[in-house]
Amino acid sequence: MKHKIILQAGREKALRRKHPWIFSRAIKKVEGQPQAGDDIAIYSAGGEWLATAAYSPASQIRARVWTFSPEQKIDQSFFEQRIHTALSMRKQLALPSDSYRLIAGENDGLPGLTIDNYAGTLVAQFLSAGVERYQKEIVAALQVVFPTAKIYERSDVDVRKKEGLKPRQGWLTEAGDSQIWITENKQQILVDIEHGHKTGFYLDQRENRLIAAEYCRDKTVLNCFSYTGTFGLHALQAGCQKLINLDVSQRALDTAAHIYQHNKIAAERYQNLNADVFKQLRAYREQGVQFDTIILDPPKFAENKNQLNKACRGYKDINMLALQILKPGGTLLTFSCSGLMESALFQKIVADAALDANVIAQIITPLSQAKDHPVLLSYPEGFYLKGLVVHKY
Ligand code: SAH
Repeated sequence: MKHKIILQAGREKALRRKHPWIFSRAIKKVEGQPQAGDDIAIYSAGGEWLATAAYSPASQIRARVWTFSPEQKIDQSFFEQRIHTALSMRKQLALPSDSYRLIAGENDGLPGLTIDNYAGTLVAQFLSAGVERYQKEIVAALQVVFPTAKIYERSDVDVRKKEGLKPRQGWLTEAGDSQIWITENKQQILVDIEHGHKTGFYLDQRENRLIAAEYCRDKTVLNCFSYTGTFGLHALQAGCQKLINLDVSQRALDTAAHIYQHNKIAAERYQNLNADVFKQLRAYREQGVQFDTIILDPPKFAENKNQLNKACRGYKDINMLALQILKPGGTLLTFSCSGLMESALFQKIVADAALDANVIAQIITPLSQAKDHPVLLSYPEGFYLKGLVVHKY
């Protein structure tokens, strides 16, 4: 290979454990003149070949491993193989949905690539220099595996800046419909792949929505950070008495209303409230309004380590407020999708929130991300979504 990275002495340990990232500080020397996204061979300080990676000069993660096999070439057929492997795993899962995460980046051996399949339309995010460089081959590989699929790109995200890439969005094949009805747990849900968050929808909560529904029959339910109301839809179908969705995105709430109408839910059974959760929970506390079941599924509060302390305070605050306005005997389903927040820390925050709320509570079930969001064992960063079902005394 033309380009080489030679690691500092002793800095090959993570690679030997098959972790896919090479940080700039681990590098002694770069040989050749690699451009962003080029293949680059990684060598130990002692001259041993370790991996083939994608070079990313703008990022602190200076290279991301494609393969630990010396004979493997990075070309269209490499991508076809990885996509096939990812797809056959998803097929084994017998998901109660026509939609699933097909590629979960590093966890599926394709660092920086996210692909969701929404009822046959693929929505892709190219988030690293390597997948950017090979976009043509990746799209061609997808078309081999899914010959009739339309493919839409949603690379309009800030993390691309860290890789020196500009945001981009649009069809990669001939245009299809950007408003897609999917089926999840027998519910019809509208996904707006053009304007929705991320790729359009949060597939990672599929299994947790079914679990949440178990605590909703005949209950008053508050669904905080509702987005397009999918937890709420499950609550309604499970026979909740009253549902309130809270979100600051009017567009998301309008989509929720559209989805509920489509699912023939009577309008008096729910309320979609455009409000800040931090403020609204305080308002309910002041007014003495209480709920049987509360769902807290906030956005990522911590994007990096510097934000972790502030994020912890945010999580503690909403959990404390939710526990205060939960009726005795009620259930809180609380989540964190910040990868930097480890399960043990999250549990401690919820415990501290209960102390501050002067509430005694028990964990009934720990929760995590849906099965089509696997975690590569050598890449624990792949585990990001954690939750707790909490019962209040
Ligand atoms: N629970 C949703 C996904 C939530 S994503 C689902 O199952 O699909 C996080 C949501 O929180 C986004 O819709 C965003 O608009 C909303 N949000 C972010 N900050 C908020 C705040 N302070 N108050 C209310 N909603 C907020």
